Amino acid sequence: MRNPITSELIEKLAAQGCALANEPMSRHTTFKVGGPAELLVCPSGPRQAAAVVSLVNEARIPLTVIGGGSNLLVGDRGIPGITLSLGHDGAWKGEMRRCADGTVYADATVPKERFIDWCLDEGLEGADFMAGIPGCLGGGIVMNAGTFMGNFIDILTRIEYIDRKGASKSLEVRREMAHYRRMDMEEGAVITGAVFRLPESADIRSARARIRAILDDRGAKHPLQYPSAGSVFKNPDGHSSWKLIDEAGLKGYRIGGAMVSELHTNFIVNVDGASAGDVRALIEHVRDTVSRRFSIALHPEVRMTGEF
Ligand SMILES: Cc1cc2nc3c(=O)[nH]c(=O)nc-3n(C[C@H](O)[C@H](O)[C@H](O)COP(=O)(O)OP(=O)(O)OC[C@H]3O[C@@H](n4cnc5c(N)ncnc54)[C@H](O)[C@@H]3O)c2cc1C
Repeated sequence: MRNPITSELIEKLAAQGCALANEPMSRHTTFKVGGPAELLVCPSGPRQAAAVVSLVNEARIPLTVIGGGSNLLVGDRGIPGITLSLGHDGAWKGEMRRCADGTVYADATVPKERFIDWCLDEGLEGADFMAGIPGCLGGGIVMNAGTFMGNFIDILTRIEYIDRKGASKSLEVRREMAHYRRMDMEEGAVITGAVFRLPESADIRSARARIRAILDDRGAKHPLQYPSAGSVFKNPDGHSSWKLIDEAGLKGYRIGGAMVSELHTNFIVNVDGASAGDVRALIEHVRDTVSRRFSIALHPEVRMTGEF
């Protein structure tokens, strides 16, 4: 049986930032669904995050890590154990700085949007591919997030992380670590920050204009007025998931409050108080329909966590 979360442990965890019992995860995910985290802990910095990991490891309680919650489907019955929030809505706002060799260090909790703006102010470009991708840098690294314009691996040189026992470590990034929406790292690694190499911009006004154009384009093509987690499925080799879903006749298909977007069929949108169960049932329905129709397997890009 699992160890209980004692009041003594809660006190020690709360001292690292804040600790919220039975915190609804619908408040911390862009899908706006998900039951309560048994205890959500928001550390106030990297040292405090390491202390949380160490305390939770010693207490032998399951640990779940979340960033901005923009690629997560949390079950309706919530997340048992401790949920460590490295999102931007916690006490740790995150900082960025130029290193002596011209690279950039940024905390994992920095939102991508803030990172892009800061880089532009520093006269750096190359983070354009992040424009319009929600969430924080830590989640972006774990997912090797990106678009056809680039992915995190293209600009990453070093990852700072905490191992599952709470020890702080540093890892030099190699290209082979990165895969399509996945980064190979030590199991249980909690990313606290990273070093990025970005080129100096020869024309910062054009760089800013390019980012505005990307945001406009995404705004026109993505159903941003509804809660979602972006693209639900990875693109199978040689295919576009949205096209397969569209051709399977699933545009606008609905289960409960969850719907296949009419604007972008690889988005599932929460149109009317969806439950995580609605979203998951719709994901399964889409996957099964596409498989029956085209004999092509769709694999979720969205990560599911907690109890459904
Ligand atoms: C409207 C919309 C558009 C999107 N467009 C894109 C797109 O164009 N390209 C793309 O790649 N993605 C896209 N996404 C998906 C999502 O924004 C990205 O995957 C994003 O990088 C996730 O970051 P996050 O901080 O929200 O991570 P979360 O969703 O919180 O977590 C994602 C995973 O990372 C882990 N994790 C998070 N932070 C840490 C950490 N510090 N240490 C260890 N593990 C951690 C979590 O456990 C989870 O497994 C989109 C989402 C939305 C809602």
